[in-house]
Amino acid sequence: MEERVTDWSRGLELKAGEWFLGLYQPSPETVGYWDGVKAHELRLKHCAACDRALHPKRIVCTDCGSDALAWKRASGRGEVYSFSEVHRAPSPAFAGSVPYTVGIVKLEEGVFLFSRLQGGPVAIGAKAEVGFRVLELGNLMPVFTVKA
Ligand SMILES: [Zn+2]
Repeated sequence: MEERVTDWSRGLELKAGEWFLGLYQPSPETVGYWDGVKAHELRLKHCAACDRALHPKRIVCTDCGSDALAWKRASGRGEVYSFSEVHRAPSPAFAGSVPYTVGIVKLEEGVFLFSRLQGGPVAIGAKAEVGFRVLELGNLMPVFTVKA
């Protein structure tokens, strides 16, 4: 599938099947994450005061309260913490993709990320590494490849 660059300035249409759920666009605290995805980089907010990675993205450190946060490229490596195989397409756009696997990856930085998983066999504790792929709704997203 061809990669497309998302123009966030007008928001992005959000649909579930035939239902239009409105528009969404990155908030000020998430825009750096999506800029990273566009550049094929997984970025996490990093607290300069206590040297901690933060995800979900925050405007202040949830550990020490500092607002000295900066985007930093993550290792992109982690392990499968949890996963599930999807057999029923949530909308017609996914009909050609089932079954597929989604899961939570615990990154080396200590944070958890929900993502599509590929490769494998997928198992709890299996090593996984991030890549980027255009998924069914046409957006470039982080996808983790599980090492056999
Ligand atoms: Zn902190």
